[in-house]
Amino acid sequence: MLSRVFTGSLYGLESELITVETDLSAGLPALTLVGLPDLTVKESKERIRSAIINSNYKFPAKRITINLAPASTKKEGTHFDLPIAIGILASIKIIDSMTIKDFAFIGELSLDGKVNHINGALPLVIGIRNKGIKKIVLPISNAKEVSIIDDVEIYPISKIDEIVDYFLNKTIIKPYKNSGYNIITTLRKDKADFSDVSGQETVKRALQIGVAASHNILMIGPPGAGKTMVARRIPSIMPPMTYEEKLEVTKLYSIAGELSERSPMILDRPFRAPHHTISAVAMVGGGSKPRPGEVSLAHYGVLFLDEFPEFNRKVIEMLRQPMEDEKITINRISSSLTFPSKIMVVAAMNPCPCGYYGDSNHECTCKPYQIHNYLSKISGPLLDRMDIQIEIMPVNYDSLIGNNKIKPRNSEEMRKEIERARTVQLERYKKEDINYNSQLNPNLIKKYCILNKESKDLMKEAFYKFSLSARAYNKIIKLSRTIADIDGINQIEAKHIAEAIQYRSLDKIVRGI
Ligand SMILES: [Zn+2]
Repeated sequence: MLSRVFTGSLYGLESELITVETDLSAGLPALTLVGLPDLTVKESKERIRSAIINSNYKFPAKRITINLAPASTKKEGTHFDLPIAIGILASIKIIDSMTIKDFAFIGELSLDGKVNHINGALPLVIGIRNKGIKKIVLPISNAKEVSIIDDVEIYPISKIDEIVDYFLNKTIIKPYKNSGYNIITTLRKDKADFSDVSGQETVKRALQIGVAASHNILMIGPPGAGKTMVARRIPSIMPPMTYEEKLEVTKLYSIAGELSERSPMILDRPFRAPHHTISAVAMVGGGSKPRPGEVSLAHYGVLFLDEFPEFNRKVIEMLRQPMEDEKITINRISSSLTFPSKIMVVAAMNPCPCGYYGDSNHECTCKPYQIHNYLSKISGPLLDRMDIQIEIMPVNYDSLIGNNKIKPRNSEEMRKEIERARTVQLERYKKEDINYNSQLNPNLIKKYCILNKESKDLMKEAFYKFSLSARAYNKIIKLSRTIADIDGINQIEAKHIAEAIQYRSLDKIVRGI
């Protein structure tokens, strides 16, 4: 007796509808899995056998062949347990094949028949739904996460016999409806706001410029200057994500197993701050069960690299591809897969090993060669991609207690100017293949960054004074374009160039020692 059961399979963020075909034939009792299952799926055999027997069903003493169709693509993950078990039960007519034909199943089984939580439920359900299957049976712990998809019927179960009893009309399972979702979207978390940051107005201005055109930023300053505090607030000045963006980020967190019952959907732009001891796999993704890395978990948000020179060089080098292509390709033995990675990189570092070079309140105890060695760790191609380098110093006493006359700018004011500057750029580049000034190549710079006489003279002076490379020269002009956009001015003026030249703090330190 042949049975067919629907499920899904995951490739990066995409998923495909899979049919589990189960066939029983005479012969020595055996269970054979075909259709390119990988090791994680092959291991399921013993779990499925025990789960069926321990749920008090008969396990067929026959030759069982299971095909995962289409057979051309590799199948990974433990979520095939449940559909395979259902297929076996249908093939021995414990369940009527006709009653399950409109359903799909995903879930991992325990030996005692419990149905366990799986990673990646959200993209799996979306993929299955897109193929027209709207009734999905899955682990109860995944119900909330997938309930943000509104046109599917979710049948949450905790044990395999619950769904068998349902198909035998012995019990009722009410499709899961998430009544809490609307509450979650309105009750947003208490947010960190730039109004909490006093006396760092120049730093805030630089971050605003960075966010306005997705320029990557390097912050240099002594311990206690508040680098982490300001970095954490960057998502608060980014425009809110659209529903589609939220869904895409949530899918990534679903695959990574980072969604919780309390936050089944990622609503705010991510802020990821991996420790400098992070491994390459954790940073870019991969592993035996492919998981998105930090570069993808920061998708549409900020990847913050504190203690930047301490990161493993190899790990840092691996950031080049996502920073350039806005996605990361993970090569594996038999296949490769891609996760998105549209990120703004914000790195932070001390100016020297002791941390106090250039600080007027502390003496730096480092020798020049020690500072050189330290700074040389970060030179190279990645540094080239840091358009903005800023110094950040601890705030003085007056600013700290709010004694200064200037009220700190809050995130909303800053975000409004950013949104305006972004709109200007999107309009300007609508016929080009780019969205923001940070993506301008040398040809496009010539086209869109016309300098007046005064700006040209200033650039020429800077070119000789700082012996700028062509790359550095272009970087300053791109940044001036963004500064003019933030100020709402079409013509790049000398003051914009002058400000852009300021954002080269690391070069300044290197020149100073
Ligand atoms: Zn020092």
